[in-house]
Amino acid sequence: MPIEYLKKAKLTAASDASDVQETVQKILADIEAGGDEAALDYAARFDGYDGNIVLSEEEIAAACRLVPEKLKQDIRFAQDNVRRFAEAQKATLTDVELEIIPGLVAGQKAIPVDAAGCYVPGGRYSHIASAIMTVTTAKVAGCRHIMACSPPRPGVGIAPAIVYAAHISGADTIMAIGGVQGVAAMTFGLFGLPPANILVGPGNQFVAEAKRILFGRVGIDMIAGPTDSLILADASADPMVVATDLVSQAEHGYNSPVWLVTDRRELAEEVMRLVPELLADLPGLNRDNAAAAWRDYAEVILCGDREEMAATSDRYAPEHLTVQADDLDWWLERLTCYGSLFLGEETTVAFGDKVSGTNHVLPTSGAASYTGGLSVHKYMKIVTWQRATREGARPVAEATARISRLEGMEGHARSADIRLAKYFPDATFD
Ligand code: NAD
Repeated sequence: MPIEYLKKAKLTAASDASDVQETVQKILADIEAGGDEAALDYAARFDGYDGNIVLSEEEIAAACRLVPEKLKQDIRFAQDNVRRFAEAQKATLTDVELEIIPGLVAGQKAIPVDAAGCYVPGGRYSHIASAIMTVTTAKVAGCRHIMACSPPRPGVGIAPAIVYAAHISGADTIMAIGGVQGVAAMTFGLFGLPPANILVGPGNQFVAEAKRILFGRVGIDMIAGPTDSLILADASADPMVVATDLVSQAEHGYNSPVWLVTDRRELAEEVMRLVPELLADLPGLNRDNAAAAWRDYAEVILCGDREEMAATSDRYAPEHLTVQADDLDWWLERLTCYGSLFLGEETTVAFGDKVSGTNHVLPTSGAASYTGGLSVHKYMKIVTWQRATREGARPVAEATARISRLEGMEGHARSADIRLAKYFPDATFD
């Protein structure tokens, strides 16, 4: 049976980015030419901020004092979970050493990038968790200098809880600057800081476009679009829990798609009845965002069986994927395209977004078909090395000379020839 759309999206995440591209290109060019002054001008223009950009130790301590003790405990709990998960990831990166042929040994090492620039979004919401996710993971990877930047609020600066989270997670520098100017400050090494080798972290379309343009000159984790989420639910799912989870993820933004895929028409219809009630109950801006996302971007899809549900989900390759269905092991085995998977009603995307330990910086807009999210590995360079004895070098040099000559690369061939002539002066080679 073909899948049936009980609700179809009117819009998709692929928006016209041409204006954004032009705007971002101009800001980057201005800041590259004008340095600190130009970045300060843009901070004043977009965020109404004229305070200190690089927070001093006193400013960090003062911000930390403003965070209530209970919230500090929660932030430390989340940070501890993220750190331990990242440490377990790092342990999977083992060095390799192999004697490829007698006398020729090759190896692989994982080396952390030197300077990491962590973008912590802060325009619409105060993303405390993004500071934990990006900074902690860089720290575990072993980066020597970790910068975090986040947009300041006019006259106030960065939300104190973000400063606290970045500080305890291991940021060496915290900067009150956001948007393109924040990304530029970290990439170009403004305000006396080292230029970042890698830029990580989510952000709005201006931040994402800046990272896209700068990629190559600096490494990036990924280009993140609006957050998206898909729920797979069968007859065992609780419609109220499913509806609540869809609304909670639609809250991310007016263009954050949420999708329900089910094989149970009654469940789908009940969820579609409940969602508007739950939306109406959210506070102001959150309701506006979530209601617009539900109206324009949400889909409810009816499938014939669980295999068709899984295949549909893999086609969407969602950033967040939740399964509220029987036989969770089957789903874990079968599903192949997602940023992060939440199995069973007892866990949910909000847990992973904030506290549970897996990283919340994840591939959006179908990118989960080819990549996972932020992990220790994104901060590491997998590099290789080799060394040889003279005997080990001999067959390699002979083959290198022949292949190079066939390719027309005489210079390469001579690098092999000189060694053969030096190490084996009495031998003759073809
Ligand atoms: P943000 O920090 O990304 O952007 C705020 C900045 O945008 C401001 O500092 C300002 O400089 C700049 N800006 C605003 N309007 C501009 C304009 N017209 N021209 C140039 N620059 C402009 O915060 P946000 O806007 O709230 O966006 C946060 C994003 O991060 C959301 O899309 C959210 O979904 C996403 N997010 C994703 C994840 C994830 O893991 N995928 C996690 C948290 C947040």
